[in-house]
This record gives sequence, C-alpha cells and structure tokens, in this order.
Amino acid sequence: MIELDTPLTRVVGARDAKRLADGALGLVTVADLLDHLPRRYHQRGELTVLADLVEGEVATVHAKVVKHEQKRDRSGRPRVSLTVTDGTAQMVITYFNPSRSPARRLSAGVVAVFSGKVGRFRERLQMVNPETHPLEDEEAPGDDADAWARALVPVYAATEQVASPVIGRCILVLLDALTEIPDPLPGDLRARHRLVDLRTAYELAHRPDSRGDVERAHRRLKWDEALTLQVILARRRREIQAMATTARVPRRDGILAAFDRQLPFALTDGQRDVGATVQAELAEPVPMHRLLQGEVGSGKTVVALRAMLTVVDAGGQAALLAPTETLATQHYRGIRELLGGLGRAGELDETPPATRIALLTGSVGARARREALAAAADGRAGLVIGTHALLHEGVAFRDLGLVVVDEQHRFGVEQRDALRARASQPPHVLVMTATPIPRTVAMTVFGDLEVSTLTQLPAGRQPISTFVVDAATHPTWRDRIWGRIRDEVAAGHQAYVVCPRISSVAVGQGDDEEVAGDDEAADGAARRRGAAGAGAATGQTVTIPAEDGSLAGAGVEELTPWLAEGPLAGLRLAALHGRLAADVKDSVMTRFAAGELDVLVATTVIEVGVDVPNATVIAIMDADRFGVSQLHQLRGRVGRGQAAGVCLLHTEVDGDTPATQRLANVAATTDGAELARLDLGQRREGDVLGASQSGRARGVRLLELLRDERLILDAREEAGRLVAADPDLAGHPALRRRIELALDDRPVEFLEKG
Ligand code: ADP
Ligand code: MG
Repeated sequence: MIELDTPLTRVVGARDAKRLADGALGLVTVADLLDHLPRRYHQRGELTVLADLVEGEVATVHAKVVKHEQKRDRSGRPRVSLTVTDGTAQMVITYFNPSRSPARRLSAGVVAVFSGKVGRFRERLQMVNPETHPLEDEEAPGDDADAWARALVPVYAATEQVASPVIGRCILVLLDALTEIPDPLPGDLRARHRLVDLRTAYELAHRPDSRGDVERAHRRLKWDEALTLQVILARRRREIQAMATTARVPRRDGILAAFDRQLPFALTDGQRDVGATVQAELAEPVPMHRLLQGEVGSGKTVVALRAMLTVVDAGGQAALLAPTETLATQHYRGIRELLGGLGRAGELDETPPATRIALLTGSVGARARREALAAAADGRAGLVIGTHALLHEGVAFRDLGLVVVDEQHRFGVEQRDALRARASQPPHVLVMTATPIPRTVAMTVFGDLEVSTLTQLPAGRQPISTFVVDAATHPTWRDRIWGRIRDEVAAGHQAYVVCPRISSVAVGQGDDEEVAGDDEAADGAARRRGAAGAGAATGQTVTIPAEDGSLAGAGVEELTPWLAEGPLAGLRLAALHGRLAADVKDSVMTRFAAGELDVLVATTVIEVGVDVPNATVIAIMDADRFGVSQLHQLRGRVGRGQAAGVCLLHTEVDGDTPATQRLANVAATTDGAELARLDLGQRREGDVLGASQSGRARGVRLLELLRDERLILDAREEAGRLVAADPDLAGHPALRRRIELALDDRPVEFLEKG
C-alpha cells in the first residue's frame, strides 16, 4: 500500500521523482507531493480574450500556437518566439533562455494557457517568459465544452527544472494510485465538524471542479495542521503537569508582606487578581507556565516582583531576564529602590527580612560580577537580574524557583528553554509582554503557557495624544516638533527623540536596535539598506537637514549635534545608543532618570520598559521606518507620570503608502490590542511570530492564525479531549504518525524541550 512516507521513486518513476526531489522543490515522499498544494487555480472561464488584452496588465490567455520560431539575438543567445491566437487576435510570446522553459514543447498546433504581463513589441502585443501551461489533449474542449470552461486548472509553485504541469501530472498519477490514506483525523471528529476524509481532501485540492471543492479541501487540511499543533501542545501541557518542582507556599510574615506594607501605591484590581493566581500556582508542586500580558505601563513589574518575593519567602531564588542591558539595569535600580532596605541584606541600611539583589549583565565589572555570581550560587541573592548573559554563561543558583522573562517578544523561545535547562529541577516560569498577542496566536505560539492579562492601567495614568508630523507635505511642521519639546522642557518635563539608526553612515551588522520593527517595516528596511549602501559607496553622511529641509535618514549621531547647536540649543541633550560603552550608556540613563538631562536622543534601545515618569514628549523621527508594535512601545515611554503625554510621529514620506497608513493607525488609537489586530491583519504568520519564533509556525501552511480563530479553538478543544482520553494516541496511529513527523522537523523540536 502507498503510505504517506512512501518515497516518490516508487510511485511516479525515477526520472520524475528525481526532478521533484531536486532543488527548491525538495519533494521526496508521497506526503510531500500531496501537500504541495496548488498556489492558485486558473479558471478557464476567467481567461481574457486576446482581442481584449490591455498593455501593462497581467492576463491569462488560452490560445493555440500557430508559429514556433527559434531565433538568436546579435550575441548569439537563443530565444523562442511563438505566434499564438484564440481566434480573436494574435499575440507574440517570447521565451528567453528557451532550454529552461516549456518553449520546446510548444510546437504549432499545441494549445496552452499563458499567464503574464502584456507588453508590446513592434506594434504587436507580447508576453515575455509567461507562466505557461500546455494543455494535454484530453483537456481540450470536447463535447462538454461548458464543463471544460468552468473547470479549475491547478497552478503549482514550480522551478525552472520542473514546470507546474509536470507536477500536476505526477500528482494525478499519485492520486490514481492511492486507494486509501490512513486518516489522522478520527472519524467522529470529522463527522462533528463535517470534514471530508484525507483522500477526498487531496482529490478536491488537486482535481477540483469548483471553488467550493477547493474550500472544502482547505478546511479539512487546515484541521490537520491545527489538530497536530494542538495535540502537541496538549501533550506538552500534560507533561508539564506531570513534572515535579518545589512548591513555594506564600508566607504571611515574610519579605512580601513587608514589601506590600511599604508599597507607595495601591495595587490595581488586575494586579491583585493576577497576583493571587500566580501565588496559587507557585504553591503547587507543578511548574507554573504563565504569560502575563499587559498594556505598556500597566504595572507588570510589580506583579513579577511580588511573585519573586513569594519565592524568596519560601527559601528559593528568582531570576528576572530582560531583553537589553539598559532594561536589565533599569529593573535593577527600580527594584532596588522599591524594595529599599528589604533589598539590602548585608548592607548597613538593611531592613529584615531582607534579601540581596544581584545584577549580572555583560558590562558589570569583574569584581562586582564575581560577587554577584557568588551570591547567586550560595543563595544569598534572592533576586538575580540580568540579560541573556545569564543564560550563556555558567551562572549557578543555589535554588532557582522562578524565572521571570520580561518582554517576551524580544526574547526567543530558545532562551526560555536554555534557562529552564539551567535549573536542577524545572522552575516556575512567568513571561511578560506588552505586545498584545491575539488569543489564537497566544494559544498556538505560547500554547504551553496559561495567559493572564492586565487590562487596567494604574489610576491617574495620563492620556497620550499622537500626531503625525507629515513633513513632506508641511515642511514647517518640522519646527513644531522642536517647539513642542522646548515648551515641555520649559514646563519642567523631559523629552525623547528617537531615530531609526545610530548613524546615517553605513555600519556593520550587529546593532540590534537598528533593525527597526522586527521585519515589520520591511519597506523601511529596504530603504534603509539602500541608504546605508549609498553612504558606504560615497563615504558621505546624510547632511542634516538636506537642502529642502528634509530630516530623512538622520541618525542619532547626526541629529544630536545638529539639535544641540540649532533648534534645541541651550537644552541639556545626550545621545544614547547600543554602540556606546556600557558605562557611558549607564551614566546617560542615570542622568536622564535623575532629571539632569532634558532631551535624550536615542535609538530603540529605549523601546521597552524604560520608565522615566517626568518624560512627557517623544518625537519619533522617520517613524515610517518602524513597525506598529514598536511605535506603540516607544509611545509608551511617555504618559507615565502626572502629566499628559505627547507622541510626534515624524515622516518625510509623501503620499498614501502602507507606511503612512501604519502611522495613521497608530495615531488613531492607543489601544494596543486594537493596533495589533490592525497590524496583524496585514501580515503573515512568520512576521507575526518574529524571526526567533517563526519556527513554530512551520507545519502551519494553510492555517491563518487570525482568520481561523474558530477552527483553532475547536481544534484545541478536540485535542484536549483526545489527549485526556488517550495520551499516547494508541488508538490513533495515523495522528500519532503525523505528530512524530512534525516533531522530526527540527523547527518544531522546541516543543519537546522543557
Ligand atoms: P509595564 O507593565 O509596562 O512593565 P511597569 O511595571 O514598568 O509597567 O509600571 C509602570 C509604572 O507604573 C512604574 O513606575 C510603576 O512603579 C508604576 N505602577 C505600577 N503599579 C502601579 C499602581 N498600582 N499604581 C500606581 N503606579 C503603579
Ligand atoms: Mg515592563
């Protein structure tokens, strides 16, 4: 019997099998080929009549070859030139590089479908190297011309070596040879959700009679993807449930109680509720795996700190991991300040029952580092704060009970796993993010995590007004940015000016803050590369401002001196970016936090978590180069204190582009969840999940995490039921096999790690 993992060599003949396996296609097994779904379908009824072709448009025509000529250009390169007709008009079709195109098969008399952009050559319409689909004889209009015209012609992603029709032919051979395929979806599940069986699904996808067929096929195949993922996740949750760890039971008279008494504000209801949930989970001998979502400024740190203190009360240690050194250092300072004497065990002003806070980043001096390492190892430090450095180096803990990961969207799954692997037994894990993650994405990507959300901002939080400063249309608005900053500073407040890059001069790779927008602003990235390339070639920096006053492309290094001598002369300015020495960064941040600087000109190093409540205005230069979530994060740097915040989105981009639309969206709402929806709706899963997480989306091809919410929820429910009843899937060998295959794929491997 032909099975899904049967090699194609046993089905389609050695020559075709080799062609399918080679190169970009890489189709080796029966499942590979069946899953190579048509990229789209030509509907013959939608074909354009040659007489109606319009130059410049992309069209699909169905025509017969009347002349086939082989020619050579002046330098001897061969090409094939066809004259084709459908009876209404004639057109020329030219193939350059004909040996690698289907041209050879298109002798006079052959009927084919050609799809491409319509051009003109010497007064005649022409297509150059169109996508070509020669029709077999049996596809020619016969008695049933109507049915023929309505049928869909699958178009497959092809390579230069293997054209779409070849793939189609192989698939049909395979479908005809297949009698039955073991179906991973249990029969009762299929009945409940009215899904066709797998054999039928492939038949409908590869040999459809109607769009309805294709939809039925897709719905069924999406279920395969969704159920596979959800079963993996359900089993993963089950495994976590089965893991043992130390229960950290809260105490009434410990450091947490003392901390709560001295807290300068009242907790919000949300902070209280999530705190209670977290405490209940910490008190279990099963590791907590919780994702804490909360709008920027919703006060996640306090929730995390209280969880950490709970663990310290129970005799354990807690680690807090931040995505950047700046943020780790700031957490260290902020937490040290919030704890006061409670965080100064061993110092003169300690307040019992105190603990110690250790900071471990790449730039901590050697001596302080030795100290911190020793305190982590012997357990004197109840709280250890750091960056990724904590993971890559042999940091030992005496009894690590809780790991808090701040701002997960910049913290890969791998790091999370690596940290878990550090502990002798799995610690409790709390992941925090301000990037709202739609429910289905959270369930899929963070499916091993339970989710809590802080919806409420602390009382007294000030609103932020956002304005797009469209400098291309209104050049005078540029000066209003500087005017507004001067006003805020005059009123005793502080300002951020954010640039997409450190310098307009081409720089090497590795400045992570220069990668604006986690690929979100792809168009911006492309332009940025262009600009950097030009700078490198000529050795010139961008002149600030350009002759027409444009500030486009300015980096921190150009903008800071220009502002200091020009529009912001007399204010106390400093630059902050990733290439400064650690102690310089540190001192700049400290002075800004202490109010000794008025304006911080920075890259996105300030993106996450930086908390200076007196800062009231943020100007984001070339805001079109940032992605939505990044703009939202940056905007969250203001409006954190007693005064209202202002966010100015500067752009030199003219007109209505996706980038300016993004800015309009950001200006229209400060609701992060709403923004995430607007933004995600236009993006693919890979982008949604970010580079370090996109691996999770592998094996998900048809499923759209946003649009298929209902289906994913149903699949999750079914998966839970299946796994509860039959954890090893003994009664579902086909599903089990599919899952094994999915887990074989390296990118999904993390799912098995704990
Ligand atoms: P985020 O959720 O963005 O990480 P933070 O934890 O940094 O937010 O909190 C933002 C600011 O709000 C901090 O200065 C913090 O001390 C303060 N804060 C947190 N909880 C409250 C509260 N319940 N009332 C008032 N201020 C609070
Ligand atoms: Mg935070």
